[in-house]
Amino acid sequence: MLKKILSPESCAKCRLCCVFDRYDAWETPVFTEELCERIRAAKPDTPFVSKDGGFILRVTEFDENGLFTCPALTETGCMLGDEKPFDCRIWPYRIMEVGGRRAIVIASNCEEMFSRPIAELVGFLRDGLADDIFSYADKHPEIVKPYYEGFPVLMFEKKHG
Ligand code: SF4
Repeated sequence: MLKKILSPESCAKCRLCCVFDRYDAWETPVFTEELCERIRAAKPDTPFVSKDGGFILRVTEFDENGLFTCPALTETGCMLGDEKPFDCRIWPYRIMEVGGRRAIVIASNCEEMFSRPIAELVGFLRDGLADDIFSYADKHPEIVKPYYEGFPVLMFEKKHG
């Protein structure tokens, strides 16, 4: 989804958004049932818990460096390819509820995107990406997270009515 914006090469080198520590484990993506099944077909012991109609990973164990790696990450990248969860397709953009309103925010730990001018980051949203994100969230409200401090808000949803 962000292929026009973020080069696959940059993402392949980084993979930061597929590895979590105990402070950002809440950021693991929300999976559909079908994606859970695909991961379980490759890694049968992967523990999922249901969340508001979607599924999230049960993050209980961290490696010796204190990190948890998404079970869908392989040597060659995400095993789900272009079908990866919506959260992953729009990252480092995220949708959160801020004071009772949905808003699109940005994660600061994606250096590639966070180093860009704010006008550019908002411009991508205005170019149709925001509509795609809000309309996906209409059908899948489970992807909307409560606001988390430190995520700059780029765009609020327009008030209806
Ligand atoms: S589903 Fe794929 S892209 Fe998303 S966190 Fe896991 S490995 Fe990364």
